[in-house]
Amino acid sequence: MSRVYNFSAGPAVLPEEVLKEAAAEMLDYNGTGMSVMEMSHRSKAYQEIIDTAEADLRELMNIPDHYKVLFLQGGASQQFAMIPMNLMKHGEADYIVTGQWAKKAYQEAQKYGKANKIASSEDKTFSYIPDVSDLPISENADYVYICENNTIYGTKYKELPNTKGKLLVSDVSSCFLSEPVDVTRYGVIYGGVQKNIGPAGVVIVIIREDLITDDVLEGTPTMLKYKTHADAGSLYNTPPAYGIYICGKVFQWLKKQGGLAEMKKYNEKKAKILYDYLDESRLFKGTVEKKDRSLMNVPFVTGDKELDAKFVKESRAAGLENLKGHRTVGGMRASIYNAMPIKGVEALTAFMRKFEEENL
Ligand SMILES: *Cc1c(COP(=O)(O)O)cnc(C)c1O
Repeated sequence: MSRVYNFSAGPAVLPEEVLKEAAAEMLDYNGTGMSVMEMSHRSKAYQEIIDTAEADLRELMNIPDHYKVLFLQGGASQQFAMIPMNLMKHGEADYIVTGQWAKKAYQEAQKYGKANKIASSEDKTFSYIPDVSDLPISENADYVYICENNTIYGTKYKELPNTKGKLLVSDVSSCFLSEPVDVTRYGVIYGGVQKNIGPAGVVIVIIREDLITDDVLEGTPTMLKYKTHADAGSLYNTPPAYGIYICGKVFQWLKKQGGLAEMKKYNEKKAKILYDYLDESRLFKGTVEKKDRSLMNVPFVTGDKELDAKFVKESRAAGLENLKGHRTVGGMRASIYNAMPIKGVEALTAFMRKFEEENL
């Protein structure tokens, strides 16, 4: 068996320890004589799995009691609709468009009400985060929406927007659990787990309790109401049971690493290795404004498409996988989520140095 360093943007690398534990429990979970995949979601054993997962997530993120944690399906993209359906009580919301995912959310919201684009960085291919300290927040906006870490472009909000008292809704898919956050600053935090937490198929929504009501857009399907899932403890119907179990294992792994403050330190140290090299390289360069750099997704280019393609091909042969950039940006992108060890980033920069010497 040989494992590669996997720089995929998602689904992405998971902690090896977690995969090994899951493998060991595959045929017989904790003396039940069955796999978690084969287990009733109404069983005592499964209830314990989901309860422990929620408790560990609450501990990691310091989630106050007046926030609910929901484990849902439909990916992050389904939230693009669920959020306006549930939260646009006055039929209006403000969107800050900093990349493709924010843009998709903004476009989807237009189906359900008045969505205002109050800031954007599309003028420079989303290579920066706009100044969000004094935006024209709409008087009737029910919330202000952001995508906090832009997976494709590699930017991250270092300061949350001044929402002037409005509710903040944030897509944290690609920075979930990468550093501590103050949950109380948000109305809703959500993310698909396949970037930084677990297997595809689970989306976690952390939502302030008072926002969960029956007052939703007329015609909203039962399955798309937060209240349906909140009232049933995420067990209204069959949840993505196995995926939640793996997420739970990742939460335990994170606790063992020392929690999110330690994770942040580790991620900063890891990203610095790559960014420092990019800043000194004569061949490669980063594509985004330095002040807005993401700790998780690092796009870079040589400026020559053929050389980029050569790099991707040769890096792959060297055991560095999935470095090809998103099709809309080109070049390369290294996603260096929580589970990517520093050794992986060291291997990448060593390879880049060698490639630079050979190709400059
Ligand atoms: C990947 C991603 C999405 C889309 O996730 P799906 O689960 O595939 O719908 C949305 N937002 C961000 C920030 C992402 O990285």
